[in-house]
This record gives sequence, structure tokens and C-alpha cells, in this order.
Amino acid sequence: MTTAAIISGTALAATVRDALARRVEQIGFRPGLAVVLVGDDPASAVYVRNKDRAAQGAGIAVATHRLPASTSQSELLSLVDQLNRDPDVDGILVQFPLPAQIAPRAIIEAIDPAKDVDGFHPLNVGRLQDGASTLAPCTPRAVMKLLDKAGTRLRGARAIVLGRSSIVGRPVATLLLNADATVTIAHSRTADLCERCREADILIAAVGRPELVRGGWIKPGATVVDVGINRRADGKLVGDVAYEEALPIAGAITPVPGGVGPMTIACLLENTIDAAVVRRA
Ligand code: NAD
Repeated sequence: MTTAAIISGTALAATVRDALARRVEQIGFRPGLAVVLVGDDPASAVYVRNKDRAAQGAGIAVATHRLPASTSQSELLSLVDQLNRDPDVDGILVQFPLPAQIAPRAIIEAIDPAKDVDGFHPLNVGRLQDGASTLAPCTPRAVMKLLDKAGTRLRGARAIVLGRSSIVGRPVATLLLNADATVTIAHSRTADLCERCREADILIAAVGRPELVRGGWIKPGATVVDVGINRRADGKLVGDVAYEEALPIAGAITPVPGGVGPMTIACLLENTIDAAVVRRA
């Protein structure tokens, strides 16, 4: 029985981080990344720590701003304004979720688009939609790099993206479309989801439902990228795809953990360096 090639995000991220560290040495200055963490959400604290460590390793100067959960929207906006004007700051990352008194959109729209390393500002979203070169969101960029690593042909391929969120599903679909794939975006109201999936040469799952995609939903030989991170009732961390069922059917698949997650952080570093190079040119 054949089994799918495993696309290791952990291994690819290590290669990408090494290449980025060499690029930082060559550009001759240390790009600056400002990370803003509001409140004490434990998962966000772990993400911020991981981003901080990876950025330092690539030679990026990271400044983490920790604000209390009681921070008002205007206080956060004034920090964003200060970071926008700071010449040493090339990238600004505000960790989500934010406390309820702060409207995420107000913060996203206040960040200088040239420093928007998350790629969430409407100007960058629009540029991506137009197929222009821009700061694309990190997880979608990670998905594209994993597809490239797997040697997946995108031009003319049928792709399905499960999930239509602004941070993952929609921008992944846009990047696939920009790469000449024929893209279906599926979501919680999609009819005949299993049949739609079975038609796809490329399946990207970004739903947040543990093991929703069964082995029988996958076209034999398809490339599967699993963005989902879910904690099962028994405590195990799993993706949106039933991994063991998918292994004998898919051509290539990303594991969870060790797939999209580590590559997302590598793409954040890449966005920071790209932003620095463009802004300081
Ligand atoms: P979200 O909740 O914003 O969006 C989920 C999407 O899935 C929605 O568009 C919804 O319509 C769709 N959906 C829900 N139930 C469905 C169903 N039964 N069938 C088909 N579609 C359905 O989530 P998100 O922020 O896009 O994240 C998705 C998953 O990816 C989560 O598990 C999240 O933890 C994970 N994630 C991972 C990374 C990473 O770096 N690895 C980054 C971001 C998000």
C-alpha cells in the first residue's frame, strides 16, 4: 500500500529560518519587529514567546509590548501610532484576540500598511486580491510554501479551500487563484462537501473542526494541507483532517502538529524582512 509523502513544516521552517538569517546578515541592518500583547490569554502568550524566539534567531530585533487586559482602544491606538512613527520598527504585530472593549478592525486599520506584517490591513488585502505584490498573511503564505515544497502543480489544478475566514480561508484561496489554480471556497453552508472535496487535486482545510475531513473525502493522490489545530476530547492535538485515514489515499499531506504552524512563524519573519527592505530602500 502506498502512503502519502509527509510535508514536514518543521523541517522546511528550519531551512527557511536559516536562509532568512543569512539574508539579514547580507542586508547589513537588523530589521525591527514590534509585537503587542494585550491581556493574559495563555495561548497568545505562548504564540508571542515562540515568535519572539524565532525572530531573535533570525537576527530580527524584537520588542514585545505587554499591556494589561484593561487597556482601552485609544491607549492601544496611541501605541500603534507611536510604532508607526518609530523608524526602527519595520513590522507591527498585534496579537489577537483582543479584549472585548477593543474593536479589532480599528486596530488593523490603524497599522501602517507598510509595517503590516500580518497582512490584514484592507490596503494589503486589496493588493493581494488584485494580484499585486504585497505583504500577504502569514498562514496563507505558509500554505503556499508547503505546496511548493511538495512539488504540487498549481496551474490548472482543482483546489478546494475549506473555511472562508479573513485570516486563512479567503487569502489562501486568493493566493491559489493568483497561481492559476481553479478554486472552490467551501464553508459551513456548502452542500455536498464530501463530493466537492473528492474532486480536488489540492485540499486545504482551515475549519477548526477536529478530523472533519475523512479519508473517503480525499481524491487519490491529492495534496492535503491541514491548517486546523484542535484539541480532541482525549487531549490529543489533531488537525481538520483524519490523518491516519488520509495517509493511504493522499499523495502528500502536512502533519498536525509540525505542518503549517512552524511555517506560519517562518513567514512572519520573512514578511518582517521584506517590509524592512522595501521601507528602507
Ligand atoms: P474561523 O473559525 O474564523 O473560520 C472557520 C471557517 O470554517 C468558517 O469560514 C466556517 O464557515 C468554516 N466551517 C465551519 N464549520 C464547517 C464545516 N462543518 N464544514 C465546512 N466549513 C466549515 O477559523 P480560522 O481562524 O480560519 O482557523 C481555522 C483553523 O485553523 C483553526 O483550527 C485554527 O486554530 C487554525 N489556524 C492555524 C494556524 C496555524 O498557524 N497553523 C493559523 C491560523 C489558524
